[in-house]
Amino acid sequence: MNTGDDIMNMGDALERETELQNLEAGKPETPAQLIIDFTDCYIDAVKDMPLPEGNPVIIDVLEHIKEFPHELYEFLLDNPTEFIRQMEDECSARLGRICTIHLKNICTKTNRKNFLKIKQCYNPKTKGRFIHTEGIIKSMSYNDMRAVSATWRCKICEEEVTNKQDSFTLKKPFPDNQGHNNYHNKPVKKIENPVTILEIEELPENDDENNSSISVFFDGNSHYLLETNHISLGSRIKLTAFVGDTPSWIIKPEEAMKSVQKAVLLANYAELLEEEVINTTITSDDELRIRALSQDPNVFQLLTQSVAPNLEGLTDVKEAVLYSLFGGVRRIGKVNTRGLINILLVSDAGIGKTTLFDYIKKIAPKCKKVQGGNTSGKGLSAGAVRSEITGKFTIEAGALVMANKGILLIDEMDKMQIEDLASLHESMESCSVTKTIVGQNRTFNAETTIISACNPKSGRFSSDPVTKQINLPTALLSRYDAIFAMKDIPNADKDRAIITKIYKNYAQPENIAPPVPPELLRKYIILAKRIAPTFTHNEEVQEALVGFYVEMRGKSVSQEGDLTIPITTRQAESILRFAEASARIRLSQSVEKQDIERAIKIILGFLKEFVYDPATGRYDVDRIVSDTTSSTRNLIKTIVDIMSNKELLSYEAILAQVKERIPGVNEKDFEEIIGKMNKTGDILESRNGYYQMI
Ligand SMILES: [Zn+2]
Repeated sequence: MNTGDDIMNMGDALERETELQNLEAGKPETPAQLIIDFTDCYIDAVKDMPLPEGNPVIIDVLEHIKEFPHELYEFLLDNPTEFIRQMEDECSARLGRICTIHLKNICTKTNRKNFLKIKQCYNPKTKGRFIHTEGIIKSMSYNDMRAVSATWRCKICEEEVTNKQDSFTLKKPFPDNQGHNNYHNKPVKKIENPVTILEIEELPENDDENNSSISVFFDGNSHYLLETNHISLGSRIKLTAFVGDTPSWIIKPEEAMKSVQKAVLLANYAELLEEEVINTTITSDDELRIRALSQDPNVFQLLTQSVAPNLEGLTDVKEAVLYSLFGGVRRIGKVNTRGLINILLVSDAGIGKTTLFDYIKKIAPKCKKVQGGNTSGKGLSAGAVRSEITGKFTIEAGALVMANKGILLIDEMDKMQIEDLASLHESMESCSVTKTIVGQNRTFNAETTIISACNPKSGRFSSDPVTKQINLPTALLSRYDAIFAMKDIPNADKDRAIITKIYKNYAQPENIAPPVPPELLRKYIILAKRIAPTFTHNEEVQEALVGFYVEMRGKSVSQEGDLTIPITTRQAESILRFAEASARIRLSQSVEKQDIERAIKIILGFLKEFVYDPATGRYDVDRIVSDTTSSTRNLIKTIVDIMSNKELLSYEAILAQVKERIPGVNEKDFEEIIGKMNKTGDILESRNGYYQMI
């Protein structure tokens, strides 16, 4: 023991002597010397670290760099390759094994010099620098291997020759020792390194209009980080990387000829971002203001008025949107709850939907917007696309995955492809999307709140019941917590108020300031979302829901004894989600009776428009789903039942099974209903005459 310490002490003493000599001579220490000392600070921790293959050593630079002269830090930022190589040599020598160095935390955000936004990486001045950047993974190559060497056999003399490889396309060596240049086509041996290329996009909250993105290369040593740090498509990551050119080995010969050289990042370290929302600091002053607001008896009105204040009216829509932004609680365990509050706006043109969407982008902590008609082949979920750089397939995330844990605004939803609607359906149901990509089923996280808008079927609302005018699969409609019809109907009082508001927007723009400014409301939401309000065993709270539910169900039997379904457990769960959001607005740890009551008010407002039949005075949820008689309803139910295992069935097979269950079924009715269900997307005609439930 003592001997070891003595040797260490001797080493220390020697070093100190050199230091002293340097000081006396007035010479600053060389970077090389400083790097040795710097490595010293970490070596003990590294020694005990179980090192996986490749012996990566992860160094948190900020932990010790302040103890050293500033020259060392400058050297690291200006000569990262040299710095890392020297550290690797030092570590390898001391630990007696080859080590690779990965640097975590090279600077803080306040020291912005090397903490770049993605678009700044393209600035020529940053080339060769060592930087941090943050982004969300938009696409990811998979199963790519890069050959580093290959061995070839001569067809004539059987001699084997090995040469280095530096591109995706294998190159044969020059003539062998006998002067032959006639190798077998395939190499007899290849040494390969895994390589992954990511495309990362600016984080939605960083508000970059262009959605800047950049390619990131994980080659050889840095590759293992992806797996150990659980980095996958849609992940939000922080990187340490060099800004460089596309590596020569990746460029296809013809591209190299065209000299397609654009800046890329060569990853040295990557980790998942822990924070839900970054780049927003909630100061103690902010928190005081938010807490005071939450205690204000008018907090609900104040916040509702603060959603798109430049838009007159639409109070019910704004209120529901507000609750949706705060959201319910996602629970995974004995009981799974999704927490997301999804909203659909069916809107006449020119009623302010765009203004509303633009304002939501301002206040939602994380938000993405897509246009229904514009989603590409990969759609909303994910898909395989060909990489511009390598020409190989990569997996690209769709908007649902990119907006994970945030809000996805979908405009013109009625113009969406049926495949996209199916992804949407799945994410609203299970907070994930599954897609078969190149023969493999892959599942992506999509805990995404949907606020979407569509136009009525004929472009404008007619006098038909609203439910008949929505051109979306009924199964999808039932996934929404609230649906609003934004109708443009002339009404003297309303019109006066709307035009007065527009006039005021022009005349006194300073007066339309919302009670709560957007930046503060955004912080309010971030703060509130950290709370997960619970339901207590309070009788009074429980009865608020149960009483309402039973009363509504009681309204289901008409005088003719015909049974309709007023509300289902689905709406009851929506109420609980709205109630959780209400508790969050109050910054309360538990849901109270007042929260349930507020939620019921919102749900009733929506049910009145969509399921209340003024002619009979009854609520009937089937009005959302269809406006059919009970016999056709029975037929639909039977078909749904038969097809519920999602098997592909022929028209005849379905009819045969229906006949078994409903003898004497009208075949004309059957044909009509199959046609209708196919049109609404409840079932899908995969190929001619074959149907499947989505
Ligand atoms: Zn030969």
